[in-house]
Amino acid sequence: MLKIEKLHAAIDGKEILKGLDLEVKAGEVHAIMGPNGAGKSTLGYVLGGRPEYEVTGGSATFRGEDLLDMEAHERAAAGLFLGFQYPVEIPGISNVQFLREALNSQRKARGEAPLSGAEFLKLARAQADALGMDQEMLKRPVNVGFSGGEKKRNEMVQMGILDPKFAILDETDSGLDIDALKAVGEGINRIMRKPDKGVLLITHYQRLLDYVEPDVVHVLADGRIVKSGGPELAVELEREGYGTVAA
Ligand code: ADP
Ligand code: MG
Ligand code: MG
Repeated sequence: MLKIEKLHAAIDGKEILKGLDLEVKAGEVHAIMGPNGAGKSTLGYVLGGRPEYEVTGGSATFRGEDLLDMEAHERAAAGLFLGFQYPVEIPGISNVQFLREALNSQRKARGEAPLSGAEFLKLARAQADALGMDQEMLKRPVNVGFSGGEKKRNEMVQMGILDPKFAILDETDSGLDIDALKAVGEGINRIMRKPDKGVLLITHYQRLLDYVEPDVVHVLADGRIVKSGGPELAVELEREGYGTVAA
């Protein structure tokens, strides 16, 4: 689904990704762990198509297409979803307006008919229910005044509505209490654990992986994948730190 070869990327002239290789097949969940400043978020931004990141070498294909050649909105329409550590707040635009617009613009790009207001509301309500998110939150301005846990649940509602083929989730677990962590973990499994989908889960801690069991765990250090293994690698990292395991 996602194949990255010898990827190099820089920001403000500083090289952050230094020859990164990674392949995620359909049906797989991969976790990426690694020390602060290793380039994990950079990888997410580069794959998502943030213009301030410059790709200086290598390739990335998504479902056989050249991902790096696509604009950010084309990547989203092709089924790529990015969840970020600090979701944006958008005063003045309600959650439903925002989500309906996002979904319908993706549908349009794929040549699919837009959902009507009523159809969309039904879908949004079902997703909010599934995540244990209060229906009232759908009417509020996007993320404004939401707690950390509410923002993450909201992000999962967004993911459920968009129903992407591939999700890159950057520290989706940071700052969550146990209930929110469980809800988010279950959301990821319910929405994304499918034979034709894939997930890249960027995380500092092993605890989210108790809910979303990865098929492969990678250690990203200094812009490269330096070690890969099974779920036991995450446990080992948590116990011993990156120093010894990734050296
Ligand atoms: P991680 O998510 O693994 O903690 P990041 O991808 O956020 O790491 O950051 C990787 C490195 O890129 C860090 O050393 C960070 O300081 C650097 N970096 C991020 N943004 C910029 C920028 N605008 N200019 C220069 N360096 C940056
Ligand atoms: Mg960080
Ligand atoms: Mg980061």
